[in-house]
Amino acid sequence: MNLKRNILLNPGPSTTTDSVKFAQVVPDICPREKEFSSLMKNLREDLVKIVHGDPKKYTSVLFCGSGTLNMDVCINSLLPDGKKVLIINNGAYSSRAVEICQYYGLPHIDLRFPIDQRPDLAKVEETLQNHPEIGLVHTTHNETGTGILNPVREIGALIHKYGAVFTVDTTSTFAMRPINIEEDHIDFCMASAQKGLMAMTGLSFIIGNKYMIEESRNYPKRSYYCNLFLQYEYFEKTGEMHFTPPVQTIYAAIQALKEYWEEGEEEKWARHTKTFQAIHEGLDKLGFKEVIKREEQAGLVVSAIYPDDPEWDFEKIHDYCYERGFTIYPGKISTANTFRLCALGAIDEQDIKDFFVVFEEALKRSNVCIPVKYKE
Ligand SMILES: *Cc1c(COP(=O)(O)O)cnc(C)c1O
Repeated sequence: MNLKRNILLNPGPSTTTDSVKFAQVVPDICPREKEFSSLMKNLREDLVKIVHGDPKKYTSVLFCGSGTLNMDVCINSLLPDGKKVLIINNGAYSSRAVEICQYYGLPHIDLRFPIDQRPDLAKVEETLQNHPEIGLVHTTHNETGTGILNPVREIGALIHKYGAVFTVDTTSTFAMRPINIEEDHIDFCMASAQKGLMAMTGLSFIIGNKYMIEESRNYPKRSYYCNLFLQYEYFEKTGEMHFTPPVQTIYAAIQALKEYWEEGEEEKWARHTKTFQAIHEGLDKLGFKEVIKREEQAGLVVSAIYPDDPEWDFEKIHDYCYERGFTIYPGKISTANTFRLCALGAIDEQDIKDFFVVFEEALKRSNVCIPVKYKE
C-alpha cells in the first residue's frame, strides 16, 4: 500500500512512519489474553526507561484517552485531603490544569506569570513558604501554546525542599527532549503516544514514583475511571488495564518504541533540533517575529506573530499549504495573533525546506509583502 505522506507541523498528533501505521493491522486478539498483557508489561517498562527512571522506584500507568486525561488523573488522584494544589502557570496548558482543579472543586492557587516569561522562582518559593498546606505542585515543561521551556529541574528542587509532590506535564517534550525523572526532581510526568513517540492517538501514560502512588491509596477518590491508584493496582495485580485498552494503538506504540530505541535518544533529539533550526531559518528569511525569546524556547514549537499586512489571511495560507501536504496550526494565545510551526514527529530538515517553498508561494499568491511587515 502506498500512503500519502503528510507533514504535520501542528503540535501533535505528529507525522508517523508507515511502519508504525501498519503495526496496527494485526490479527484480532482479546486484550485479556496473557499474550497481550506481556506486550503491555514491556511497553510500561520502556516508558520508564525513556526518562531514565530506576524501575525499582518508578513505574508507568497506561490509560485510554488523550493527553489531557493524564493531567486530570494526576491532579484528581494525588491530592491528600486537606491539602492544596499549586499551579505554576505561564500558559494555556497550565491554565487547563487550573480548570481541572475548578471542575473537581479542589482548593488551589493559580500562580500566574506572563506567557512569554519563565516563572519567577522567588515567587514560587514565597508561595510555598506562605502556604504549608500545598501538597501538590503542577506545571508544564514545554508550554505548547507558546513553546517556552520551563526550568523544571530548578522548580522541582524547590518543591522537594518544601515536601510537596511535583507533577509535570511533559506531553510535548517526552521522548524528544531528554528527561531524567530523578535528576529533574520530577515525581510524575506524562505524555500521550501521538506526540514524541510518533505513534497513534488514544494511548496516554503517566510515569512516576511508585511509593507516592501507593501512598495515594487512601486519598479521596474523585473519579471512578480516572484514578491513578486504582489503575496502577489493577496493573500490578493482573497486568491489565482496568477497562478495555486501545488494542491496535498499543501495537503501534510498541512499534514506535522499537523505532525510538533504533534511532536513539540523542540522535532523535539532534534530528528535532535540526528540524527546529530549519524552522527558525525559514521564518528569519521571511522576516517573521516570534513570541518567545529563542534562548527560552523548548526547541519544538515556534509561535510566530501574524504580520501587520491586510493581505495576510491565516486560513488562506493554511489551506494552500494543506492542499500540498503541509499542515500549519493556529496559535493558542489570547493576547496576540499567532500561528505555530512544530518540529515534532517523523520529519526532518529537508521537509521544512520543502515546506518553506510552498509557504512562500502561498504568501506571494496572497500578495503578502516579503519580508513581512510589522507596525513597530
Ligand atoms: C498535547 C498536549 C496535551 C494533551 O492534549 P490532548 O488534546 O488531550 O491530547 C497536554 N499538555 C500539553 C503540554 C500538550 O502539548
